[in-house]
Amino acid sequence: MNLRRIFLSLCLSACFLPVNAAEEEDIFSLLNLDYPGLEQVKSLHALGEDAAAAESLLAYFRTRKSEGTPELPSVQGLTITASQQKMADEALEHRFFAHYGYQPSYFYGDDIDWRYWPVKDNELRWQLHRHKWFTPMGYAYQVSRDPKYAMEWALEYQDWIRKNPLVALDDKEFEITGNSALDSLQENMCYAWRPLEVSHRVQDQILQFQLFLDSPAFTPEFLLLFLKNYHRHVEFLRQHYSKEGNHLLFEAQRTLYAGAFFPEFKAASNWREGGVKILNREIERQVYPDGGQYELDPHYHLAAINVFCKALEMARLHGFGNEFPASYGSTVERMIEFYAQICYPDYSNPCFSDAKLTTKEEVLGSYRRWSKLFPENAFIRYMATEGREGELPDSLCKGFMDSGFFVFRSGWGPDATQMVVKAGPKGEWHCQPDNGTFELWYKGMRLFPDSGSYVYAGDGEVMAWRNWFRQTSSHNTVTLDDRNLAVTQSRTLLWIPDGDTPVLVTENPSYEGLTHRRSIFFVQHAFFVLVDEVYGPAHGEVGVHFHPGPDMEGQYTLVCQGPPKMVYETRKGWMSTAYRHKVARPHRVYHATKKSGRSIRFVTVLLPGEKAHQVRIGRLFAHEGTLQLTIWDNKEKYALQYIINN
Ligand code: MG
Repeated sequence: MNLRRIFLSLCLSACFLPVNAAEEEDIFSLLNLDYPGLEQVKSLHALGEDAAAAESLLAYFRTRKSEGTPELPSVQGLTITASQQKMADEALEHRFFAHYGYQPSYFYGDDIDWRYWPVKDNELRWQLHRHKWFTPMGYAYQVSRDPKYAMEWALEYQDWIRKNPLVALDDKEFEITGNSALDSLQENMCYAWRPLEVSHRVQDQILQFQLFLDSPAFTPEFLLLFLKNYHRHVEFLRQHYSKEGNHLLFEAQRTLYAGAFFPEFKAASNWREGGVKILNREIERQVYPDGGQYELDPHYHLAAINVFCKALEMARLHGFGNEFPASYGSTVERMIEFYAQICYPDYSNPCFSDAKLTTKEEVLGSYRRWSKLFPENAFIRYMATEGREGELPDSLCKGFMDSGFFVFRSGWGPDATQMVVKAGPKGEWHCQPDNGTFELWYKGMRLFPDSGSYVYAGDGEVMAWRNWFRQTSSHNTVTLDDRNLAVTQSRTLLWIPDGDTPVLVTENPSYEGLTHRRSIFFVQHAFFVLVDEVYGPAHGEVGVHFHPGPDMEGQYTLVCQGPPKMVYETRKGWMSTAYRHKVARPHRVYHATKKSGRSIRFVTVLLPGEKAHQVRIGRLFAHEGTLQLTIWDNKEKYALQYIINN
């Protein structure tokens, strides 16, 4: 044991945060002392023997029967992963795992500086306050029974409380950064007490409570401090819910967890019912009838499913599952089917909007959980068992008309060709201005993956990167003068999922004076023909952008035919599938000048696979919703056409 350890241990044994009599009074007044099992606590407290009451309360919690949480039904027989062990050990040295995009973890000082902000990315500072290393410390304690993890956790837990006080924020705005009107305590509040971070702590402190409860760190005094801090967190969260979006979903689900796990609090039923009410309301607001979540981001879509499912699991576990109507369950099932449809046969997801790649292991784990919740659903079971049980849907191609996601697929197996097109409504915060874009997956290769997002928000440099990944021209779609789309509200003019050659025609009023119509033919379920037509009074340079994946040269053939003066250009592009990780890749642009009032057209033939193709694009006829086109691939001739009946 080094000197610092000895010092910390002394501090822990001697200097717990002072809990004065008045504060103790507060804590007992927050509990329902008539709750079964708290009889002795109640009588000791009534006699003024609060130290003994605290001891009795600790004994109660250590022996109470609880259904726990879906994540941790019991602390018996736990194991720890190498990454959890690393987080726990680094935390002993105050190297805190704040964000996986910033590894190795930073050192926050012997005397912890909770405001240390080495890179001015908001996420790094916010997420420090999620205390992601606390729960791994709990696992490390349970597995090793070494009290050092518990003692250090309790010290850091109290250090955080001391240095991150709740102060009044007049405007209740938690996303302000660099606002000189705020003093330093208030500025810190914007990070330490942002409601989403508070909700993380509310959820994870349940796990920490379970994991550390039998440790020497959980003295009666510490229990009172813990309960008081926890109560303060949930009450604060309840009064500062985010207005909308995935944040609100997380916050409501975690408030529900708090109410279900700690029924001993007087406020518990309020917490539980409040969470249920918000989730019942938001599932109607945030999910389109076709099952898509309104941020139009596969990652947050997945997160939203998990929020709704966790709430339902916790409610069923604690006997109040009937507070969610049947329609809640059927909406969640539609969301899961949506996710299964837009993802690829290897369980990877498109990285539209701010999405990151989720590992197969993680997604399979989710499917297995979902399949337990919806055992009758054969499609979910198929996904959960990797096809050993259950059934696939009847049709291969699938359109989601409200969300504007369209899936062209030749099969469900590893040798499939699959294109996912994103052409929907405006969407919410995480959605990017990318209407008409697509991802193409072929036999396990991400031939044309989305650029992803790389980072969210921060100072000038962080924002410059965010804007590069977010901009329209970083997508496989059409721009005017490389500008971002002014309008993102696509209309589906035609969707024929069946037959030899499925067809999609989608149109977006992209800019003032310029509409982009994109028609996509999935020819013989083998290759794609894209017809991009732009019309309207606007004048400018029209670009058709393609972003093949890194190292995908030679894995596809792409031929584009446009106006006679069309120019082909390659630029430097990027792709990101994880926060703060990016890989260089080519960005191919075909561009031509559009004169005012004239329309121009580009025809692109995109064939996946190494095989060489001699592609010829024949004459195209288009008039009032009718389009006819002939394509030759080597000597094979393909006559393509559609008629839109208004
Ligand atoms: Mg994108």
